[in-house]
Amino acid sequence: MHAQVKLGRIAGISIGLHYSWFIIAFLIVLSLADHFHTVTPEWSKAVVWSAAIVTGVLFFVALLLHELAHSLVARARGMRVRAITLFALGGLSQIESETPDAKSEFWMAIAGPLTSAILGIGFLGIARLAGWPPGGESKTPVVAVLLWLGYINLMLAIFNMIPGYPLDGGRVLRAVIWGITHDADRATLLAAQVGQGVAFVFILLGLYRFFVGANFGGLWLAFIGWFLLDASRSSYFEVELMAGLRGRRVADIMERDYPTVEGHFSLQDFVNEYLLRSGRRCFMVMQNGQVTGLITANEVKGVDRERWEQTSVQSVMRPLSQVRTITADTPAIQALEIMSRNDINQLPVFANGRFEGVLSRSHILRYLQIHAELQRR
Ligand SMILES: [Zn+2]
Repeated sequence: MHAQVKLGRIAGISIGLHYSWFIIAFLIVLSLADHFHTVTPEWSKAVVWSAAIVTGVLFFVALLLHELAHSLVARARGMRVRAITLFALGGLSQIESETPDAKSEFWMAIAGPLTSAILGIGFLGIARLAGWPPGGESKTPVVAVLLWLGYINLMLAIFNMIPGYPLDGGRVLRAVIWGITHDADRATLLAAQVGQGVAFVFILLGLYRFFVGANFGGLWLAFIGWFLLDASRSSYFEVELMAGLRGRRVADIMERDYPTVEGHFSLQDFVNEYLLRSGRRCFMVMQNGQVTGLITANEVKGVDRERWEQTSVQSVMRPLSQVRTITADTPAIQALEIMSRNDINQLPVFANGRFEGVLSRSHILRYLQIHAELQRR
C-alpha cells in the first residue's frame, strides 16, 4: 500500500495517508458528533462538532504514535524503516529488511499495543484530573473527549493483541514460537494458521451480528476478518515461497541458455520467428557474438506495425548500460525484492563484469514449483 498524500517526515520516516483513510476519518468524526450529541444533548452544535473534530485529530495522532512505536523499535534493532502509511484499517509500517531475531520481532510487535495502552491509561488519568468521576459520565466537553480517547486507545491495544497473524498479537505469538523452536518459518506458518482461524471467527461473528441484530458494526467486523484472512493467507504463501529461495544465490537459479536474437534482424522477423513462436517474453540481443541489450514485447509495441519490416531489433532494444543488472552472487531473495520494488520482470546477470545469464520472475516461479514438488513425498 502506497501513501497518496505525504505529510512529511518524523525521525527520517516518511508519514503518509492512503485515500481510504479519508473515508474513515470522515465516518469517525460523523459518529463522534452523533456520540457527543447523544451523551450530552445540552451541548450546542458548534461544541459538538469542534469536540468531534478535535477528538478525530487526537485519535489520528494516537494511531500514528502506535505505528511510530513499531517503527522506532525496528530501527533501534537495526532494521530499515521507509514509511508509515495510515489507511482505512489503521496504520502500516513499511519495514524493508527481514527481522533479524525472535527478540527483535517480539519487542517490535508489542511496542504498538503497549503505546496504545499507555495512551489509553494516560487519557483516562487526565480525565480523572479534569474532574471525571470514575463510573460516571462527564458533562464537560474536555472530559468527554478524553474519555472517548482513553477507551478507544485501550480497545486498540486489546484488539491488536488478538493473536491472529499479521495483527500485532499474531506477531508476538510468532516471536514466542520462533524463540522456542528457533525456526522462523515454522513460527510464521503456525501464527498465520491461527490468524486464519481468528479471521473466520471474525467473519462468522460479524455476519451473525449483522443478520440477527441488524448491526452495522457486525459488517465492519466481518470486513476486518476478511482483510485479516487475506493477509494471513498471503503471509503463509510467502513463507512457503521464500523457504525455497533461502540460501540460494542468483547463480543457482538464473538461466544460462537464455534466448537470443541477432541485432540486425527486423522487428517483423523477431515477432514472427522468435517472440510468438517461443512463448518467451524477453530476448537478449546479440551483436558480433556479444550480448549488448535486451528486447521484450514492450519495445516492439512502441513501434507502429507498418514499420516493423524496416526497423531493426538493435535500434529499439534496451542497451545493457541502461538496464538494471545484478551480480551472480546476490542472494536470490534480494533479487526478487529488487524486481518487485522496481516492477521489472527480468534481470541480466553479470559475474566478474561478464554477462552470464538472465534471471526472470517466471523462471523463479518455475524453480519454486519444481522445488516444492521435490519436497512432496
Ligand atoms: Zn500495531
